[in-house]
Parts: sequence; C-alpha cells; structure tokens
Amino acid sequence: MSRVLFALLSVAALGAQAAFLHGLQRAALQTHDYYSYEKMLDYLDGLAHTYPSRVTLEDWGRTHENRTLRSITITNGYGRRDKKVIFIDAAFHAREWLTPAAALYAIDQLVVGFELNKELLQDYDWIVLPLVNPDGYTFSRTIDPRWRKNRSPNRLGCHGTDLNRNFAVGWGGASTSKNPCSHEKYCGRAAFSEPESRAVRQIMHHLMATERGILYISIHSHGSWILYPWSYAKIAAKNTQEHAEIAQAGVAAVVNAPFDSSTKYKAKASHELYPAGGTSTDYAYSIGFPLAYTLELPGRRGNATFNFHPPRHLISELVQETWIGLRAMAEKTIEKCSKSKRKLHHKNIC
Ligand SMILES: [Zn+2]
Repeated sequence: MSRVLFALLSVAALGAQAAFLHGLQRAALQTHDYYSYEKMLDYLDGLAHTYPSRVTLEDWGRTHENRTLRSITITNGYGRRDKKVIFIDAAFHAREWLTPAAALYAIDQLVVGFELNKELLQDYDWIVLPLVNPDGYTFSRTIDPRWRKNRSPNRLGCHGTDLNRNFAVGWGGASTSKNPCSHEKYCGRAAFSEPESRAVRQIMHHLMATERGILYISIHSHGSWILYPWSYAKIAAKNTQEHAEIAQAGVAAVVNAPFDSSTKYKAKASHELYPAGGTSTDYAYSIGFPLAYTLELPGRRGNATFNFHPPRHLISELVQETWIGLRAMAEKTIEKCSKSKRKLHHKNIC
C-alpha cells in the first residue's frame, strides 16, 4: 500500500472513531483556547445527548453565511412549564472573544455542575444563546481580530451591521451610524434588519408572551462594567434601585473571588457611561423584562491589558470569575423574588 493511501485510510479511521466516540460521550468543556463556531455546536450537542432530561436545544434562524443561531434551555428536569426564565446571551460583537467562552462556562456549571447549582434551577429555567454573531466571530477569529459587526452585505460593497444598535428602542439615535461602511455602530437599514437581532427578539418575545422572562444579561467586553437601562437616553429606569442592588451583589462576589487580581466592576446606568440607541438591553426592558443588564467583561488583569483578546492562559480564570458574578446576580434576583411580595418594575413578575 502506498504511503499516501495508508495515511488517508488512517485519517478516515480516526474520523470514524471520533464520530463513534462523539455519539457515546460528551466532550468536556475546554478553556485553554477559544472555541470555533463548530466546536461550540459540538459541545452543545454533546450536552443535549448526555443530559436529555435537563437540556433542550433550539434554533432561532440562520445568519447570512448560513450559520445556525442555537440556544440551550437548561432545567432541573422536573418538567414544570411555568417557571421564570433567566436569559443570557453573548458575542453580539464579533471581537469580544471571551464572551462566548464565559457563556459556555455558565452552561457547563448549570448542566454538568448541576448538583452544585441546582437551587438556581429550582424555580427558574435558564436560556443561553452563547454566540449571537457566529459569522462575525468566525471572521474575527480567522481574518480580522478587530471586527465588531455581523457579515451581512450592505450597499457600497461594505459588510456588517452592529447588532447591538439594531434593536428598536432609540434605533438610529445616540452612538449609532447610518454609514454602512462604518467599522462600528452601523445600525442597519432598519431596526431588526438582521437575522441575529431578530433571533434574540424572538426569544425575548417568546418569554414575555408567557410572562416568564425575569432577568436578561447580555455579555460584552471590555470595560468591567455592569450596566442597566436606560441606554438610549439619559433617563433613569423605574426600578433603578433594584437594578443597582442586584448589580452590586455581582460586583461584591467578583471582588471577593479567590484570584490574585479579581476584577473590580463598577455598576451604573448605561447612559451614564455613554448613551447608545438600539441596544438589546433597552429592548428587553421595554418589552417587560424587569431586570436587564449589559455585563462588560474586563479588558485587563493586574498589569496586563488585553482589551478584547485575553491571552489563552487567562481564559479559565476569567470565565470562572464571570460565573461567580452571574451566579451572585441570579441568586440576588431569586432571593428578592422569593422573599418579597413587592412588585418588581411595574409588573408582579416574581
Ligand atoms: Zn460589545
């Protein structure tokens, strides 16, 4: 047998073996490198296969480059259908590589680490969309690390809409651009012109139609901020105090996390950082999520500044730290809802 043929047959055999193993066992989550879109889907599929009573995958449409927008719903497997839902998404912006890694780690903690976290699932289900912008993420990972938008074609031969400027509240307003060739902040030809923002909207509407959506957290980077509505204008949210209290629970938990240089987050209304129109957080709040946050992960650690692209050896520590913050915010929300008969926001959503 020629050496080439032998090599080809060996590769084919290894492929078959990998496919066989994949069908039998879930691959453990790796945090030593950033995942590709394909590897994220494999990971989610593995969870659904291994934990069918607690995990459901759903597709919410396809991108311009035909990638699927897949969410995972995590429950405790008891089959209750009336539970409130915590909705988390990540990677609206292509270059924010740490954000889908943080979302996958949160998924892993809730599913594989179920025994440690089951109280978070007792009266709540979680929906996570870990990669809102798979086309942009793939482009950023392989061609231009600075890329922020999606990859839809625009007029003038330019590509991409800023998906976090493509929602309907304050669309085309502050901190947006109508120039389709703008590298950042092009708000699209209309609100919800993009399949990715429509997918997020669809999940939100699905949750609000049954009054199940309670807490929305959109993970971005970088800046070490926990931001809450409103973003589009200098207006305070009705329940600013509630937002601030839950954000502070996240801030305190992360500061006390067992790392050498834990992040010192700052919590404030989004418009106090800078007003921006067309964001997903404002939209979630506008349709009735009583609590809506943008979590801006850190761009530095100790003396190291990495902005959008943490070095690989820091991924593990940073996603663990992020989970500590998310968990604390969820716990505080649950505590407030279960203890208090007081209404959150304008609706008695608890
Ligand atoms: Zn962002």
